[in-house]
Amino acid sequence: MSYGYDLTPEELVEKDRQNLWHHLTQHKIFDSTEPTIIVEGKGCIIKDARGREFLDCVSGGVWCVNVGYGQESIAKAVYEQLKKMPYYALSAGNPPAIKLAEKLVSLLPGTAKSYISNSGSEANEKAFKMSRQYFRLKYPNKDKYKIIYRHRDYHGTTFAALSATGQDERRMGFEPLVPGFVGIPAAYCYRCSFGKSYPGCNMECARALEDVILSEGPDTVAAFIVEPITAGGGILVPQAEYFQVIQEICQKYEVLLILDEVVCGFGRTGKWFGHQHFDVSPDMITMAKGMASSYMPISATVCKPHIFEQFINDPADTFAYFRDISTYGGSAGSCTAALENIKIIEEQNLVERVKEMGNYLLESLKELAGFPVVGEIRGKGLFAGIELVEDRSTKVPVSEAYMGKLLSIIASQGVLVGRMNRSVPGFNNVVTMAPMYIVSKEELDRMVGAIKKALETVQR
Ligand code: PMP
Repeated sequence: MSYGYDLTPEELVEKDRQNLWHHLTQHKIFDSTEPTIIVEGKGCIIKDARGREFLDCVSGGVWCVNVGYGQESIAKAVYEQLKKMPYYALSAGNPPAIKLAEKLVSLLPGTAKSYISNSGSEANEKAFKMSRQYFRLKYPNKDKYKIIYRHRDYHGTTFAALSATGQDERRMGFEPLVPGFVGIPAAYCYRCSFGKSYPGCNMECARALEDVILSEGPDTVAAFIVEPITAGGGILVPQAEYFQVIQEICQKYEVLLILDEVVCGFGRTGKWFGHQHFDVSPDMITMAKGMASSYMPISATVCKPHIFEQFINDPADTFAYFRDISTYGGSAGSCTAALENIKIIEEQNLVERVKEMGNYLLESLKELAGFPVVGEIRGKGLFAGIELVEDRSTKVPVSEAYMGKLLSIIASQGVLVGRMNRSVPGFNNVVTMAPMYIVSKEELDRMVGAIKKALETVQR
């Protein structure tokens, strides 16, 4: 195969060093280490240019190749579609986009329309734009435009999505960000911002939403965006009542509720969507990564009927359509990949499998609870985190150096896990795991064994 596969490993490394700007990477490390170059994948195993194999427990690095590598039916379906009709703008429909839109709505009872784009950031941008325009149409004399977000949640890399991201290290250097975005504390019992403990905390973290709406002025607030389970911010699973309180507050002040399902969507947590673990009915749901298991880039913003209807019922008829476009959004090949991916998840009963294997994973991780550095183990489905601390009573996070060492010892055993991104300076202390839905018990055992050995080694 050509397109780079005709190059030797040495040539790949050399050309990579010369020309490729890696994401989220301080390139000085390549003075002393080689860039990793991934060339192949099959099932849960990836191979690098040097021929080394790794058990990929982060589903493509960022929790997205959920059905695993080598799903030929996706490749074939996309190939056939591209031959037939690769692209036409989504101002016109196309058969895969129509079928996908219907499928998304059927997976999310109560929703009515799917707006298709290309990335998680973009799906969230659309949700913000829909929220702002929705209220401008509904209340022309009000200025209901602000978006509330939570600390530690991540919503994307583009400017508005970043402005809604509660992770300092992602935002540093890019200011000024977009005006009108306001943060509230995370739902994070292990480090409660209010110094309380659950139960008996009165869900202060959720009630903080009301305080902010009131201090900003309810007539100025358009939407609240939230991850069902905070992913990159440390795998934070809220308590059962959290979303009930959130929903009540949103309804009371007519604030739209946007659920960012970019990571949790399509089965990752053992339900089709993460918010389905809770008693909540969002106005908009955004999704990306697991939608086509990243075989093709695709995302969507799915909304309830009242959102869409506002855009066709404008008496003044000035803004009476959603003033947004995305060239590649809804391209026939991407929609085909998503449809085939969803078919695999359905036909192989993978959501149920994630639930079972997730229970097995969380049970297996308990084996690590005795290590003095293990502060908390948490997760849902095939999505888990281990928060590491220097001291269990003070909860001081382990250092960057500790995390680096731990992960490299795990990788040296041929296993790839992740870590919380350095979202809050000093807090890079969560080992994260998001294995593929097809992972076996033996592979999970291998992963837990590799983490255990690394914890023992660093302890010594
Ligand atoms: N939302 C969440 C919860 C995410 O984790 C991410 C990506 N990590 C995004 C949005 C942004 O997605 P993308 O990188 O596709 O723009």
